[in-house]
Amino acid sequence: MSELYDLTIVGGGPAGLYAAFYAGMRDMKVKLIEGKEVLGGFLHHYAEKTIWDVGGIPPLRCEQLIERLSAQARTFDPTILLGRRVDTLERLERGAYRLRTDDGQSHDTRTILVAVGRGITEMTKLDIRGADRYELTNLHYTVQNPESYRGKRVLISGGGNSAVDWANELVGIAREVIVVHRRPEFGAMERSVARMLEMADVRTPYVLRELHGSGDAIRAVTIGHADDEEEGTGIERIDVDAVVVSHGYTRSYGDLLAWGLEIGQHGVRVSDQTATNLPGIFAAGDCATYANKVKLIAGAFTDAVLAVNSAMRHIDAEAPGMAYVSSHNEKFREMNKRLKRPL
Ligand SMILES: Cc1cc2nc3c(=O)[nH]c(=O)nc-3n(C[C@H](O)[C@H](O)[C@H](O)COP(=O)(O)OP(=O)(O)OC[C@H]3O[C@@H](n4cnc5c(N)ncnc54)[C@H](O)[C@@H]3O)c2cc1C
Repeated sequence: MSELYDLTIVGGGPAGLYAAFYAGMRDMKVKLIEGKEVLGGFLHHYAEKTIWDVGGIPPLRCEQLIERLSAQARTFDPTILLGRRVDTLERLERGAYRLRTDDGQSHDTRTILVAVGRGITEMTKLDIRGADRYELTNLHYTVQNPESYRGKRVLISGGGNSAVDWANELVGIAREVIVVHRRPEFGAMERSVARMLEMADVRTPYVLRELHGSGDAIRAVTIGHADDEEEGTGIERIDVDAVVVSHGYTRSYGDLLAWGLEIGQHGVRVSDQTATNLPGIFAAGDCATYANKVKLIAGAFTDAVLAVNSAMRHIDAEAPGMAYVSSHNEKFREMNKRLKRPL
């Protein structure tokens, strides 16, 4: 039997991280389990972007928001496990649950918060043999630092929002931006597509067929017409300094979908108190669905508060409906003294 926790949070995105903090305010014994090796959830897919719409926070790069959320989540020292996917659920006596992770470990808990968002996501890799050896040099699946492309000839493969955004961002920084997409139409905002078509060298319907490297870096690529079945037809070789691939992402939820949770078209169905159909199991953030659900970071925070309060009341029906507000909460008295100045 593993140590019994009050609340086990599955997922370390904004919902899970904020829930870890708020559950600490309620003196709950908390464990957070994240399938990836990093906290932050889907925010890693746009870590280089600037976020404006989180209340009370000045515009900041998303990676900074990840850092702040992660630091806040650790305020009350919850147990945080990374790189472990939660798979199975077993009902124990007296209403507790046992979760099992993909490393074979079990995790006993009184309540569970499902905060799995869009699932464990992985960028779709380029399906060309040997491509992975360029990942440390000039084959990228995200644009971390646009300035590092200054003066370069960059080829972007993809046709979604990210590909189009990156093309527009790199125009004016890179010497040349070439966009290759397998369809004639792009799946991005009309205005962005129009700008890209004007500013970049766009080739459709084309796909990347080969990477030509010298040493560890790509020096040129071969593109081919997307409809050409036979190799060697409609091909063109282009010299490049960097390749950016934006082919979407895959997602997995482990075995979580087999727990017996009621799943609707837009996620796990919950009540207005974030309760799922299984007693003691709550859902928050992008994976939860209810009337007027807000799929934003701000919405994830609100869900997290509701879910933690519901979990607390599930354990102790007499517990107050919410934590005492932080401005007047004795729990922060010593911490406030340690702050050099109020944030
Ligand atoms: C392109 C894009 C841009 C966006 N921009 C903004 C913006 O500017 N402002 C804004 O407010 N919102 C924005 N959003 C929405 C925002 O990203 C989401 O609302 C937010 O990430 C939801 O957080 P979450 O914690 O519910 O889920 P996620 O961020 O998806 O996190 C879920 C976590 O659960 C983990 N997980 C999943 N399954 C398991 C498992 N079985 N075991 C263990 N771990 C698991 C995943 O690895 C992941 O870390 C944007 C969304 C997109 C797609």
